[in-house]
Amino acid sequence: MNCKNSPITKTKFRNKILYVKRDDLLHKDFSGNKARKFYYFLENDFPNIKKIVSYGSAQANSLYSLSVLAKIKGMKLDFYVNHISSFLKQNPQGNYKAALENGANIIEKTENNIQRYIEENLLNEETLFIEEGGRVTEAQYGIEILAQEIKLWAEENNINDFNNLKIVLPSGTGTTALFLQKNLPFEVLSVSCVGGSEYLKKQFFHLEENEKYHPTIITMPKKYHFGKLYKEFYEIWQEVKNETKIEFDLLYDPLGFLALNTLKYFEENIEENKILYIHQGGLLGNETMLERYKRKY
Ligand SMILES: *Cc1c(COP(=O)(O)O)cnc(C)c1O
Repeated sequence: MNCKNSPITKTKFRNKILYVKRDDLLHKDFSGNKARKFYYFLENDFPNIKKIVSYGSAQANSLYSLSVLAKIKGMKLDFYVNHISSFLKQNPQGNYKAALENGANIIEKTENNIQRYIEENLLNEETLFIEEGGRVTEAQYGIEILAQEIKLWAEENNINDFNNLKIVLPSGTGTTALFLQKNLPFEVLSVSCVGGSEYLKKQFFHLEENEKYHPTIITMPKKYHFGKLYKEFYEIWQEVKNETKIEFDLLYDPLGFLALNTLKYFEENIEENKILYIHQGGLLGNETMLERYKRKY
């Protein structure tokens, strides 16, 4: 499977030039930042491993991507979730449905610390444990390839002064943003979609002690809760879609674009100052999010 290179689209948002790294177009079944993060596991052989074990939400993009990975590798996938709503059980859709179709075992388990439970009870030499959302050091392997592609593009576009390019992307665990910053000479800016700026900073430290490799965190005036519906999210998502003709994900990208819009660098929109926004995929999850938004607004 080749999912190494994705195109960069030049577009406009609020009449300002924006470049978008199209990781949503990497591959039909294996795309977005989860494909980058799991690329190491795709490329390497694990002859003794029979099963991948992970956990997260029943609608997580990582659930679907891991189900594809497990299928390709001929492994089983046991994916632990806190709770599956009865609505979802009766009407499987999005990532959940697609993962089931790939043969994933999605297991409901109410544990305060599911990671510890897994580590203490479920692991052996035949299992490969992948932390929630791919928050693992192996993720650097695929994200470094993404960074290489960005550097090549910058060279081709004669961006010689590193200050003339900023990389913007929204964060969950912060793994993608952190490993991008570690592997790029350009400033990486991110906003926390889960738990706020302090949580994101902690995540960065979890993966990298040296602060000099940490991305810049954009702090928003308002605190948002992950997975909750906000009118301004839906509105900006729709606006971005109409203006760029690109569909972005509804969980992370609305905040990504709201954050982008607070940047002076973006506001000024000086010809030589380019912004590259990383499209991290996740479109399969939009089906459920759209339905929720349409019911609410
Ligand atoms: C997982 C995911 C993120 C968050 O990535 P992190 O590396 O955990 O910060 C952002 N956008 C999409 C679409 C995702 O699936």
